Order: sequence, then C-alpha cells, then structure tokens
Amino acid sequence: MLIEPHIWDDTHPSRASTLGKFTLVNNKEQSGDTPPISIESEPTPSSTHDSFTLPPIPENAPYTIRTSPGRGLGIFTTRPIPAGTRLIAEPPLLSVPHGRYRVADLEARYAALTPSQQALYASLGSSHTQRAKHWGVGVYKHIPRWDLERVREIQAIRCAGVKSVGSIFVTNCMGMGADGEGAGVFPTAARCNHSCVPNACFAWNERLGAETVHAVRDLEMGEEVLVSYCYVLHARDLRRWELRGYGFECECEVCEGDSWDVGSKVARSLARRARVSELDEWVGKRVKMFGLGFEGPEEVPGKNGEVGSVDGSDEGLLTLAPSREVLSQIFLMAIEMVSLLRDEGLVCPLLAGGYMTIALLCVALGDLNFAIDAAQKGLDTFLIIYGDDHYRAIETAARVRELKVKAGVGNTDD
Ligand SMILES: [Zn+2]
Repeated sequence: MLIEPHIWDDTHPSRASTLGKFTLVNNKEQSGDTPPISIESEPTPSSTHDSFTLPPIPENAPYTIRTSPGRGLGIFTTRPIPAGTRLIAEPPLLSVPHGRYRVADLEARYAALTPSQQALYASLGSSHTQRAKHWGVGVYKHIPRWDLERVREIQAIRCAGVKSVGSIFVTNCMGMGADGEGAGVFPTAARCNHSCVPNACFAWNERLGAETVHAVRDLEMGEEVLVSYCYVLHARDLRRWELRGYGFECECEVCEGDSWDVGSKVARSLARRARVSELDEWVGKRVKMFGLGFEGPEEVPGKNGEVGSVDGSDEGLLTLAPSREVLSQIFLMAIEMVSLLRDEGLVCPLLAGGYMTIALLCVALGDLNFAIDAAQKGLDTFLIIYGDDHYRAIETAARVRELKVKAGVGNTDD
C-alpha cells in the first residue's frame, strides 16, 4: 500500500521529485532554532547524464534521465513499455526507520554517507523557499508537544531559504519498511515527476529491500514516467495545497481548467473522485461492520439476530448477518467504485482493493465464479502496480487459488 500523506501531517513520508532550479537565499531569517546543514546548489539540469550527480542508470534500463520542460529533471522511457513493467528498483540512499524522524536524525545519517553519496543526495531537488504563512501551525494545536515541535522543525526547513539535508529529505522521501512507517530517499525514483493521473506507481518492496516504480499502463518510447505525490482521491484544491509542499502547481489534464464548467475534464474528474471517495468509505464501513471476510463472517459485536440496515445509521446494533439485499447493494456500490476508477484512468492500490472487495461480496452472495473473476482482476492489478514479488500480489495469488479450489476448478498446486 502506498503511504498516503495525512492531510494535516505534511511531514509524513510521501513523495516528491526534482523541482527544477532553486533560488538559494542564504542567511535568510530562519524560524527554527538550529540552522540546517546547508548544501551547495545543484548544477543546472542538463540533458546529458552526469555520472557525478545523477544515479547510475543500469545497462538495458528502459529509461533515461533528462530535462523535463518546466520541471527540472525527469525519467523518460527509451523504448515502448508494456503495463506492469518494473522500471526502477532501488535501495534507499538515506533512510529513517519511522515517520517521526527529526532533522538531527537525517543529518546524522547524511554525515555517515560517502562523499559521492552525499553529492548524489545534494543533487536532488529541494523546496525550501516556501512562505511560512502557508504552513500555519494553528491546525496542529491538538497534537502532542513533541510532535508539534517536530512539525515546526520541518516547516522551518521548508521556509529556510537554504537547501539542506532536511529540505531535500522532505521534498523527496517515499514510504518504506515492512510496516510502511519508514521513509527513504531513492535518487532515481525521486526523479519521477508528478501527475494526478499517473502512468506509474511507486511502492516499497520489503522482499527486495527496494522502492519499485512500475508502469501502470503501456508507455510509448520517450514518454515521461509520472507518479502521484498525493492521495489520488483528494479534490483538486486539496491536491494543489499538498503539492505546494513540493514547490509547484500541477498542470496535469485533470487540474487545468474551470471546475465550474460542468462539461470540462476537470469537473468530470472532480465529480468522479468525490463519488469514489464516498463509495470507498461507504463500502469499507459496511464490509467492516458485517465482518465480511473470505473465511466467512468475522465476529462483530451486535444484538440478537437483528438484520443490518443498509444506511448504517444504527451501526452499534448491526448483526453478523446482512440480508442478501444488503449484500447486493454493497456489491453494486463496489462495482460502481471500480468502474469510476477505471473511467478516471487510475490504476492504483485502490482499484486492486476494489476488485478484491467485489470478490469478497461475491463469496458472501454465493457466486464463486464471479468471485474468481474479480479476484483475478485484483491480482492482475497488483501484479501491474507492484510485481509478483510483492506481498500483496503473493497473498492475492494464494486467494485466487483458494477460490478456485473451493469452486472445484483448480487445485492447490496451481
Ligand atoms: Zn494534477
């Protein structure tokens, strides 16, 4: 599962990339107590591969790194790429084991790097010239003091006007670690720029100890590889707010335009994503309420044999046994969600999860053949976005086999 930044925790590991050229303003007033370790400006991005400041590109790699107009450096394919191709798999250059890191943790790890690793790290983009008022702290008042100090520290490096170890980290880090709590900087993956309709997906692969980037649809030769830095279901305005943390305004196909023009692409995208968000919550809540699982109903606190209501208004009273009508309604909602995600061109963990929810509901409705089809689609999607060595794909493949055995159309050795 991707690490999705919590909207009020801008310091949660998420994703960013090179942000073009930086204007370094040294000795500017800093709001933090400790001046960050500042780093010299990176060389102007060039269209040729510079082995000193760019990560090595493996032989036969299907990509190259070059200038992306208006976006600094980017990753571009060097040949046609089928969906599901693993473009990048790389270990972290600098990482922390949990998301609650402090700047001092990052600086200690940076100090332990070799000079060439430090140069590679320093070549990455940094968004450190933001305005303090953008990161007002009022919204964080409810969080514990230690966390508040941490948030302020991270905000200070965003506004320090100096490129630093910390500013590079918060601009480029991606989630990692078995529990998804860690964060790391991956110098090649970090060069992927952003789109709200990404053609690639990044993910941590615990087995490989590497961050992977997979093409999620067929790519043409010379096409730029784009990932999403923010949660795809967020509305355009919220995405724009989040992306400010990376120092740019998105001009992708579903961000540009007048959202009040009901026929426009942006308006249709907004409506679809809002509906998917609603359905995701609605369906997820009911699957949990009814304890629906592939192994049969799970224990759910409820009262004596009362039939669950579909509006969920009396959650505390629901029982283990939703009626067939209720199950069918949840099923239709899950189908609608998957259909909208496909219309929106989002091949992402949410889509794979949607197929698996449909499979689950089919099992509850007693339609094993449909369940196998849906689970297979879920598996196909996990294979595309993560690859066959990711635990989600491995678990889902086992699920498909189990369903086939149950339906009498497969055996455990499949
Ligand atoms: Zn966009």
